[in-house]
Amino acid sequence: MHSILNHQDTPEEVILFVIKHELLHLLIPPRETKKRLVNHPPEFLEREESISPEYSLIWNWLYFHFPFCLKVHKRKEQVIVTREWKDIMYNKRLGFKEMMHIITPKETSKASEIFYI
Ligand SMILES: [Zn+2]
Repeated sequence: MHSILNHQDTPEEVILFVIKHELLHLLIPPRETKKRLVNHPPEFLEREESISPEYSLIWNWLYFHFPFCLKVHKRKEQVIVTREWKDIMYNKRLGFKEMMHIITPKETSKASEIFYI
């Protein structure tokens, strides 16, 4: 788990989501398709959606709090945390309810799309 989440205000749901994601990798290992190793094959994403209905909310929270620190690396199928995270490590973090009062529908849909690359 990345140190960016090591903060007293990080919601427990975010930590649990990451743990579920990593444990799911043990159940559904990477699969080779089209001469490429796919870490999150369709069955992984389907299973994750079924065990983590909070998925979109969690990603919205992450992109809301770390908008300039998270970069999607499509080829490696991962979200990379850039060095800028240390600059905002101690910023206040909102709970889900507080965040949803601020976040716009446009931002919500953008974060959801990023998940499904
Ligand atoms: Zn993964």
